Amino acid sequence: MKQLVAILGATGSIGQSTLRILEQHPEIYQLYAVSGYQHIAELIDICLQFSPKIVALPQAKQQEFLQLAQQKKLTPVPELVFDEAGLIEIASATEVNVVMAAIVGAAGLQPTLAAIRAGKRVLLANKEALVMSGDIMLAEAKQHHALLLPVDSEHNAIFQCLPEQYFDYRQADKTPQLGVAQILLTASGGPFLNFTQEQLDCVTPVQACKHPNWSMGRKISVDSATLMNKGLELIEACHLFSISEHFVTVVIHPQSIIHSMVQYIDGSTLAQMGNPDMCTPIAHALAWPKRISTHVQALNLFDIQQLDFYPPDIERFPALTLARQAMRTGGTAPAILNAANEVAVAAFLTDQISFMDITRIVADTLDKTTIALAHDLQGILQADQIARQTAKQWITQYGVQ
Ligand code: NDP
Ligand code: MG
Repeated sequence: MKQLVAILGATGSIGQSTLRILEQHPEIYQLYAVSGYQHIAELIDICLQFSPKIVALPQAKQQEFLQLAQQKKLTPVPELVFDEAGLIEIASATEVNVVMAAIVGAAGLQPTLAAIRAGKRVLLANKEALVMSGDIMLAEAKQHHALLLPVDSEHNAIFQCLPEQYFDYRQADKTPQLGVAQILLTASGGPFLNFTQEQLDCVTPVQACKHPNWSMGRKISVDSATLMNKGLELIEACHLFSISEHFVTVVIHPQSIIHSMVQYIDGSTLAQMGNPDMCTPIAHALAWPKRISTHVQALNLFDIQQLDFYPPDIERFPALTLARQAMRTGGTAPAILNAANEVAVAAFLTDQISFMDITRIVADTLDKTTIALAHDLQGILQADQIARQTAKQWITQYGVQ
């Protein structure tokens, strides 16, 4: 029996890499449903190649989709479903076995939760959804017997370096189990690793989106440049592996060859290595516990020769400290951090604020927003909305309109 796959965010960078893996393994996987948002021509191309049964898109894009479908002679036209309800429908469709959660930002939260509640194998790229909902998402996964597998390269690496039984032993007190001492979360450091404070003050969106090792969507590229991506990943690791933040150490490793490590109490350190290509963690999460082939070249250690490691500079990159504090505070703090960051990154990408303003806005929003316990999703969504308003007020007051 083939595995039927739904890709939330098929037109994005992770979505496209997932399609590359599916196209290599037509005997195992069949694309059942996809979603897109702005890139409708790309969505049509996916339909022409893979013939999914259902497509989720914004209602406002329906006409554009149908016109392009006619122009490009797409037959049969797939069933169209719309907006968040449509995303939830494809994420939880009975036929679907595997859901790739690859929408960027908070927009992916409800569809990802829907896939979890439907008990699917959920490949989690959309880290913002987990950062926002944290323990709620993991509790839902447990309750509905969903298999939540990390696609983020670092978390996928950690998953590969942990003992297989680790997930049965996750403890409420958030201490590492089974001889694990700590997690070493590696970071490339982004395109501005060696920039001075003065240089950082005047970097542009184009510079920020040029990552030295990875090719990614614009939002995560900016997050990598501020190191907020690593901050979000720190929170992601705490939830996925049920550990407190002080068991996670961030290590700058500019070559992006070691994707993260797990240190054990006997002095062993296990690392997962590979060329930086998201197809590897995607293929791993798709096939786990089996392995499937990808086009990714095997590492040639003789070519690499040298691997470097440094501690992060938290003066120039305050995002890491903000995220660590938010995780320590708990409750709705990570959701507030994430919401303010999403608003700030969007403003930076449209030239309304400077690069360093991004973390100023996140810090200011965390200061001004009341942090509550995160009992339920409603409280989290409320905190998200309030934080967005606060961040937007900052931009109205100090940004370039
Ligand atoms: P992209 O920006 O390339 O793709 C985002 C996808 O989400 C697109 O399909 C986009 O549609 C869709 N989308 C955007 N906004 C909305 C919305 N409001 N409602 C519904 N769909 C929407 O991002 P990436 O693929 O780079 O990243 C996706 C997620 O994976 C992020 O959470 C990121 O942090 C995470 N991730 C990415 C990695 C990477 O290497 N790229 C690595 C690790 C994690 P459209 O393009 O049609 O507008
Ligand atoms: Mg990552």
